Amino acid sequence: GATIGILGGGQLGRMLSVAASRLGLKTHIYEPGANPPAADVAHACTTASYDDEAALRAFAEAVDVITYEFENIPTSALDLLEPLKPIRPGRRALAVSQDRLVEKAFLSEQGLGTAPFAAVDDEVDLAEAIEEIGTPAILKTRRLGYDGKGQARIMAPEDAEAALADMAGAPAILEGFIEFTREVSVIGARGLDGSVACFDPGENIHRDGILHSTTVPATLSPAQRSDAVLIAAKILNALDYVGVMGVELFVTPKGLLVNEIAPRVHNSGHWTQNGCLIDQFEQHIRAVAGWPLGDGSRHANVMTENLIGADVARVGELAGTNTAIHLYGKAEVKPGRKMGHINRITGPAS
Ligand code: ATP
Ligand code: MG
Ligand code: MG
Repeated sequence: GATIGILGGGQLGRMLSVAASRLGLKTHIYEPGANPPAADVAHACTTASYDDEAALRAFAEAVDVITYEFENIPTSALDLLEPLKPIRPGRRALAVSQDRLVEKAFLSEQGLGTAPFAAVDDEVDLAEAIEEIGTPAILKTRRLGYDGKGQARIMAPEDAEAALADMAGAPAILEGFIEFTREVSVIGARGLDGSVACFDPGENIHRDGILHSTTVPATLSPAQRSDAVLIAAKILNALDYVGVMGVELFVTPKGLLVNEIAPRVHNSGHWTQNGCLIDQFEQHIRAVAGWPLGDGSRHANVMTENLIGADVARVGELAGTNTAIHLYGKAEVKPGRKMGHINRITGPAS
């Protein structure tokens, strides 16, 4: 069978490797860090930095197609890999999702709603942006933020200086604070043939900026549910996307706003492992391998709960009836580190 190259060796790479293996495909992980969770289950793993041109070339040589489990792959590495093997999803999806300003501009071009936003490089920009957008607002680094890192709340204009200091000189974006009624996400997939299939939207709860739980079905009206799926499909088509994408949405009384997109399998899609015949990991592997997409319709109500840091010690107590356990094989427990998750079946699909 073919070999799928995966840039990044975290838990998402691990679960992608398991899915690939079930399809008779091999995976080859490329990861700079030591002891990546994916290495235990992948067929091969290269431990090398993204600056190591010889290692990147050898990796490309060893695989048939390249995908990734995180979006912050250095551009230089992608430039080197791109002529050697197909990268799926493609470069445009990465360019858009690596920079929050480019992402918001792209979404607006598509006619999709977002939080009001403005670019902030210095205190003059920030003062103007606060003038225009008002407070409360959130200042975020344009690049490299995740799990709520690289963000500062601005409750009143006086908070501007401290918020800008938090950015440590990195280019930033100011976003108006959205009083959302809930947060949902759509895990969408698009095949090489252009077909689109979206999983049912999930409802997300964050704690300390980190995803805590996802519940399906989300509390949405039928109109909101179809809007959510149509938004995801629009983004997938606009990017000529191949693979699975996570689309994070804010539900507001005035409609749905797109918070951000992730060009990869997504933590809020882990419920699909136990709620669907074909989960997000298999769907992604199918798409990047050029196979037809599978049937991701939901056959159960599910709640995913992340096991963050010391939560993992509670796995025994959480693993009651109708609960599937997914652990990532990470040796060291650290605060805020995603150690695993559970999927609890809460009833038949409703
Ligand atoms: P992820 O781990 O999902 O990649 P991230 O660090 O990229 O997270 P965001 O998704 O931008 O960060 O923000 C994290 C959370 O903070 C959101 O899920 C939402 O709860 C809240 N948040 C972010 N932006 C806004 C906003 N403009 N208005 C209100 N809440 C927001
Ligand atoms: Mg993000
Ligand atoms: Mg997010």
